[in-house]
Amino acid sequence: MAESGFEYDFIIIGSGLFGSVCARELTDNGFKCLVLEKRNHIGGNCYTENIEGINVHKYGPHIFHTNSKRIWDYVNKYAAFNRFTYMPVANFKGDLFNLPFNMNTFYQLWKVKTPQEAQDKIQHQISKLDNKNLKNLEDYAINSVGHDVYEKLIKGYTEKQWGRDARDLPTSIIKRLPVRFTFDNNYFNDAYQGIPIGGYTKLIKALLTGIEIRRNVDYFLNKNQWNALGNKTIFTGKIDEYFDFKLGHLEYRSLLFETVRLEVKNFQGNAVINYTEKDVPYNRIIEHKHFEFGQQPFTIITKEYPKEWKSGNDAYYPINDVKNMRIYKKYKEMAKHENRTIFGGRLAEYKYYNMDQVIASALKSVTNILSANV
Ligand SMILES: Cc1cc2nc3c(=O)[nH]c(=O)nc-3n(C[C@H](O)[C@H](O)[C@H](O)COP(=O)(O)OP(=O)(O)OC[C@H]3O[C@@H](n4cnc5c(N)ncnc54)[C@H](O)[C@@H]3O)c2cc1C
Repeated sequence: MAESGFEYDFIIIGSGLFGSVCARELTDNGFKCLVLEKRNHIGGNCYTENIEGINVHKYGPHIFHTNSKRIWDYVNKYAAFNRFTYMPVANFKGDLFNLPFNMNTFYQLWKVKTPQEAQDKIQHQISKLDNKNLKNLEDYAINSVGHDVYEKLIKGYTEKQWGRDARDLPTSIIKRLPVRFTFDNNYFNDAYQGIPIGGYTKLIKALLTGIEIRRNVDYFLNKNQWNALGNKTIFTGKIDEYFDFKLGHLEYRSLLFETVRLEVKNFQGNAVINYTEKDVPYNRIIEHKHFEFGQQPFTIITKEYPKEWKSGNDAYYPINDVKNMRIYKKYKEMAKHENRTIFGGRLAEYKYYNMDQVIASALKSVTNILSANV
């Protein structure tokens, strides 16, 4: 029996980072938690499956990066991190380019050797444009980095990713294009970066140590039964599903992963290679061993295909356009009246969160819960 008089103080729906951090913190503060997970494994989308010593990122490549020392120290309490630095490479029609756009990329594109030459080249391409009306992604990107970078490295990848012409996409998708005039291939500007040694599942397992978890359980199949067991619910699933899609479905972009084992030691020499031309159906190839500097005599690769989302498919990227955000705001209003349920995480908040952000958000939710309990 828990403090609240119920069997559990908190029923936590979902064992992704949001649910797992809440479970850990609430347990450490004396509350009894039960975690329900509809998949057959814990960890949500950052789950890694150990296949013969290689930790396979099952739901896309996950690189932990943050500027927050507090969050970095927090995750390092539960897992040791390696020194992995994300340096993806782009393949456009067989030519290779470093990402993010930096002096290496500009040398590969134009053979320019100094920052001034690169800036002049980009400025020259931008100054020839007469369309300064930056309402869509294409205009915005060309006006920021010029025609060559856009055509070879942005257009095809982005159109595949979102399944739409770049002229029909909002500028918000690429918000600020990372352009660097130094020879620096590190994708992130953050102070801290790495991969948990042994994979993300090890991190999640450590977070959930000593906490009761039930896998293969979809909360919605027995919602009342689970609610009766706990005083409060922390819900990290889809907010529209929670409300029986009363106001309609929120839309997502989906992904399909095709994973194979290859009898070669090193297939592509990098963890991630992006395929930026439109005609290649996948957007990237992930070679998982490179996240942890693996030396196995074989390798495992995954081709990641962007996919139209239909209800029932895995939901990956929320489509935060005007139509969907209007619906989400109404669900959010409804959520405010659900006194026993706390909503959090990428699906319940219909928001793209990086891992460090979702951990910060979970910690904040727990602080709110604790302060409401005193
Ligand atoms: C392709 C891709 C790549 C990414 N790469 C990075 C990266 O490199 N770096 C980074 O910082 N972030 C990355 N992210 C973001 C990262 O995945 C998220 O920040 C993180 O997964 C969010 O955790 P969460 O707990 O909110 O959601 P999730 O991880 O989705 O967890 C939610 C859990 O709830 C469960 N659930 C849902 N409904 C129910 C139900 N009805 N009953 C029971 N269980 C339920 C789900 O099965 C799931 O396990 C990436 C995301 C994607 C899609």
